[in-house]
Amino acid sequence: SAPLLDIRDLSVSFRTYQGRAHVLDRACLTVNRGEVMGLVGETGCGKSVLSRAVLRIIPSPPGSIDGGEILFEGRDLLTLPRTDMRRLRGERISMIFQEPMNSLNPVFTVGNQMREVVRAHRKASRSEATDACLEMLAAVRLPEPGSVLRAYPHELSGGMRQRVMIAMALICNPSLLLADEPTTALDVTVQGQILAILAELAERQGLSILFVTHDMGVVAQLCNRVAVMYAGQVVEVADVQSIFARPAHPYTRGLIASIPGRSSGGELYAIPGSVPNPIDPPPGCRFHDRCLKATGDCRNVAPEMIRVVPDHSVACHLFNQDGLS
Ligand code: SF4
Ligand code: MG
Repeated sequence: SAPLLDIRDLSVSFRTYQGRAHVLDRACLTVNRGEVMGLVGETGCGKSVLSRAVLRIIPSPPGSIDGGEILFEGRDLLTLPRTDMRRLRGERISMIFQEPMNSLNPVFTVGNQMREVVRAHRKASRSEATDACLEMLAAVRLPEPGSVLRAYPHELSGGMRQRVMIAMALICNPSLLLADEPTTALDVTVQGQILAILAELAERQGLSILFVTHDMGVVAQLCNRVAVMYAGQVVEVADVQSIFARPAHPYTRGLIASIPGRSSGGELYAIPGSVPNPIDPPPGCRFHDRCLKATGDCRNVAPEMIRVVPDHSVACHLFNQDGLS
């Protein structure tokens, strides 16, 4: 069946003092119904911009969407009228961020803010809205939902605030949750609890999650599939088992080799050097400056994304349609 979210050749640029920065260049990504899709890459690879583009919350100017389609439930979000887009936000697609304090209003109680979300999207009495809030707070396993509802954001711990954000994001039962590094600021134990809650919600409610992270450990713990981004492009997509067992792209191999406690299997793929400047990206494969496997072709010809085996695609000249080299 058609994917829930189908991002096709999305290009996004930002105006800067040095010139136009091409932050996304024909990026492609799909998210299927009920799956947790990981989106990984280094800081500045465009992963946050990609997730924000889905909700059309890229500030413009300086940002502009230069091309592509974002098909969600069959409709192109980029051409949707503003009023439809506003309704879709929160109701069909929600987002959570790294720092929930930025999204919570410090002067209102959790209850006031959550009820407002409910009533912005459907007709509900105050007590119906309260019941919905209590149910959702319990679903994210917050103890004593009643007292959380009466609390102000600063009275909660970081982990509790992130659970409140998840509850708020999911209270209208969206089909897609965009999660941008929501556990990065939390300690490892709390992070594990939040990931378990997200996995359970995805499973139980058929929720799809696009989980943006720089942490391959988080990917291993939570995701069904993963897309690897480099310099504004998606360079490898695979199910989570394949990405760890048979990473294809040299960049992905470097990412996995750099996980603490993992050996690179004797092969050097480590990733010295830095991400190319998006104002003037290199020709050919954008990774060629940092790739120990690069050949002449790599410096001139941009590799296309090809499917090497079912459910595993890569954009690298080392591979061709006949399978993994
Ligand atoms: Fe390395 Fe060439 Fe593959 Fe790019 S296309 S990752 S430079 S081998
Ligand atoms: Mg980011």
